[in-house]
Amino acid sequence: MTFAEVSPLDGSPLEAVVATPASEVAGLVEKARVAQATWAALSLADRIEAVFKVKDRILDAGADVAKVLRAECGKPEGESWTAEVIPNADLVEYWCDKVEAALAPEEVALDPLSYPGKSGAIHAVPRGVVALITPWNFPIAIPLRTIVPALLAGNAVVFKPSEHSARAGALVAKLFDGILPEGVLTLLQGAGEVGSALIEAAPDLVVFTGSVPTGRRIAEAAAKKFIPVALELGGKDAAIVLADADLERTARGLVWGAFNNAGQNCASIERVYVERPLAAKLTERIVALTRALRPGEDVGPLTTRAQLDVVRRHVDAAQTAGAKVLCGGEPFGQGLGYLPTVVEVDGALERSMALMTEETFGPVLPIVVVDTADQAVERANSSKYGLTASVWTKNPEKAEPLVGKLRTGVVTINNHGFTAAIAAAPWSGTGETGYGVTNSRRALDELTRPKFVLVDRSSAKSELWWMPYTPSLTATVKAMAILRSGTRGLVEKLKALFSLLSNAPKRLMGK
Ligand code: NAD
Repeated sequence: MTFAEVSPLDGSPLEAVVATPASEVAGLVEKARVAQATWAALSLADRIEAVFKVKDRILDAGADVAKVLRAECGKPEGESWTAEVIPNADLVEYWCDKVEAALAPEEVALDPLSYPGKSGAIHAVPRGVVALITPWNFPIAIPLRTIVPALLAGNAVVFKPSEHSARAGALVAKLFDGILPEGVLTLLQGAGEVGSALIEAAPDLVVFTGSVPTGRRIAEAAAKKFIPVALELGGKDAAIVLADADLERTARGLVWGAFNNAGQNCASIERVYVERPLAAKLTERIVALTRALRPGEDVGPLTTRAQLDVVRRHVDAAQTAGAKVLCGGEPFGQGLGYLPTVVEVDGALERSMALMTEETFGPVLPIVVVDTADQAVERANSSKYGLTASVWTKNPEKAEPLVGKLRTGVVTINNHGFTAAIAAAPWSGTGETGYGVTNSRRALDELTRPKFVLVDRSSAKSELWWMPYTPSLTATVKAMAILRSGTRGLVEKLKALFSLLSNAPKRLMGK
């Protein structure tokens, strides 16, 4: 079976992609499970040597990546290089450099009195088969930020890209051609039913990036099988502009933050809260910069018709509810283009508008005037999402008190949203944005599980707590409690020490 697609640029047909039959998914997951055991048995150095080759492959494939993403998703060429090629080469380098230290066993200090002769360590072991289900908006970067550390940690990955970026998904899999044992990375093509079959096949972890409704379905399906899930879902990012912000830098930063990838970025700026004294000038400058953007070149089309429909619906309804479109607000070109749009919204009305409460995921920048920074924070936090937020000011110390109050996984000062490209920086959110962590060594907490290993070198015949439960046990533990307590006097503690010294050896002899 194939699924057809057309280019969002002009509706021209794209090369057909063969879908994986849902009935074959369980068998492929079984093969991945067998391959994973072999892969995990290799030394970490061998795994690093294999995965490191992907760094040069990405850089060398940069032009192909840009071409596929232009045709399939409508992405401007420059954005492919800055968001999907260069940071991914850095990602491979980061993980290959850091993974050994990050996975090193962690010694656990054990009290020699309570646990004589014992030593323990926490080992990070692979989960097994990781099911990876991804969206179409950053179809190279989002899969790689999980595939690379998951493989290095010794997992096999079964990867299902979005049906709307199937060709980019195939490119991701091709980066690993010939450098991994068969079955360690498996590509599934198809839509929701293939993703659903993947979860039914009982992988050991599901890593999902996508929308809230799908995330909810996946979490429910996985819960029935007790499969852990990492969810990176939607966003409704706010930018807070203080009255002292640098006008030019802030206006340019907000325009990029709202319109990169045609606004189809989970960390797009979808709400601006600006303090009144700067509001008129900032709005005027943003509108001028937005009018100067070249549709199709600086801002590509939406990737799917469904997304274009959401954008139109949000803008049209907001207008009906009293919002003022300052520029844009209409389609362009032969495909799925929508002009970058700036909207002025009265703060008193914003809670009634989907444009201000739901994820728009399109090239729309709504601006709301506020009287104080605290009011801006309160409005920013009123969203059900909590991915990233930014504060714009010439005095970063003014932003500091706001940072603690913002209920998001990332806060940037005088910039927005780009930190997903930094492999060392954790990417996560709150509320309906989900509960996964990607990037940084914290991501390994999802991709591995802790295995505690204890070695006992004690030569004693018995342990304090083993049977039989004789009077010497009671005497020993009561003495231990008195010695540990902060409320007992010196005389009582000396008596307890004496009791401990006479009873504990009996226990270690099994008496
Ligand atoms: P989507 O939820 O429609 O699809 C995501 C993936 O899930 C696709 O591969 C799809 O085929 C698959 N899928 C659909 N139904 C399924 C099912 N029942 N079982 C298993 N898999 C199923 O999302 P989308 O439209 O591709 O992506 C846009 C969304 O992704 C936005 O909400 C955006 O905010 C979010 N996103 C979040 C982040 C983040 O890091 N938080 C990053 C990028 C995108």
